[in-house]
Amino acid sequence: MAAPDDTVLIVGAGHAGDAAAAHLRQYGYQGRIILLGEEIFAPYHRPPLSKAWLKGETDAAALALRGADFYQRQNIDLRLNTRVHTIDRARRQIVLADGQTVPYSHLILATGARPRPLAMPGAGLAHVHMLRTRSDADRLRAALRPGTDLAIIGGGYIGLEIAASARALDIAVTVIERESRLLARVASPPLAEYFQRLHTEHGVTIRLDTQIAAITPGAVRLANGAEIPAGCVVIGVGAVPNTALAEAAGLDCANGITVDATARTADPAIFAIGDCASRPVPRYGRQLRLESVPNALEMAKQAAAAITGRAPSKPEIPWFWSDQYAARLQIAGLLVDVATTAYRFVSNREKFAAFHLGADGAPLAVEAVNAAEEFMAGRLMIARRTLPARAALADPTIPMKTILA
Ligand code: FAD
Repeated sequence: MAAPDDTVLIVGAGHAGDAAAAHLRQYGYQGRIILLGEEIFAPYHRPPLSKAWLKGETDAAALALRGADFYQRQNIDLRLNTRVHTIDRARRQIVLADGQTVPYSHLILATGARPRPLAMPGAGLAHVHMLRTRSDADRLRAALRPGTDLAIIGGGYIGLEIAASARALDIAVTVIERESRLLARVASPPLAEYFQRLHTEHGVTIRLDTQIAAITPGAVRLANGAEIPAGCVVIGVGAVPNTALAEAAGLDCANGITVDATARTADPAIFAIGDCASRPVPRYGRQLRLESVPNALEMAKQAAAAITGRAPSKPEIPWFWSDQYAARLQIAGLLVDVATTAYRFVSNREKFAAFHLGADGAPLAVEAVNAAEEFMAGRLMIARRTLPARAALADPTIPMKTILA
């Protein structure tokens, strides 16, 4: 147990930083907890920014991660609008942008990620948006006025969620994707086809295999010279981890701050969690950076457990969700080393799951659309390394619980 005069300093008041502070208290940490965030808002849910928040269907109270008095009740010193400038590892202190120093006994870096910039003429124009923060979402929401043509560069999850929200606001939407399919980095081809059909049915124009040359004040100019009218443009081409602080402090970074299974860096006093960290993913034998709320929460638990001397919790299978129109997608596991896939169409093509199996027949990933039972069972099978019969997985008349048993 930590001595009361210890201080855990958390840099970044997003999902991971907030959860680390809460878990520290839950695990009995009695020292000081300082949670520093550069944004002006208390920690909030990021996923709704491209969904309910963008559509104006939720309010600030529902967006907040905690009730108004949570931090005070938990004796967590939340400091907003505060940017950490440097880590001074030798003195175990951080330096704020205004030169002030704050000492720590343990430091948790939870700095998240930022939208990947697109280097192209016009990317800095006022009508070009990227989406990461509540301020970004508010600016985008204000720009989605009736009659505006929206062009979204990038057919990944965030781009597609924005497309669905914009359609709900009756905005004309074109999605421009460089690859030959949507979700090229993150989903299997059949799932990408499903989302392509779904968006097309909702009136979204999708341009695949399309390179962009420039963004102009009223259009997106393609490499072939054609122009897509756009009074509003969103660039959604992925995210890059915020590792500058760690790099400057000499910590190992390779697409994320490198940590071990307890979220600890090579400096025993420093942890890194959430989108900014590259972590071991045991079931897959890889060191990876994951971008999801469940990952941020799991890593927060790892760091809090290590700091309070608790045994590490059981590793979780990565998972993620996305909501577009009425479709709820849930993915568990990772699409790596996949040898074969079993498709299960539960009631019709709107409710299905793809079970991706390794060479030994054990599930490695499940992609489930409106199929929560298949998702839950798939996640369990991945964790347990179950060897289900492929034919049973593909047969919707055989209940998932029978296959699990
Ligand atoms: P963040 O939540 O990004 O928090 C990091 C914080 O650190 C930020 O507030 C940042 O300003 C602050 N910071 C950075 N540097 C400094 C510094 N030097 N000093 C002080 N503060 C600093 N995940 C899902 O699982 N499902 C979804 O449906 C989903 N939808 C998403 C939709 C959108 C629009 C976005 C942007 C993300 C979505 N995600 C989703 C991803 C999910 O939100 C992230 O994985 C999660 O927020 C990661 O938490 P984090 O705490 O690591 O980073």
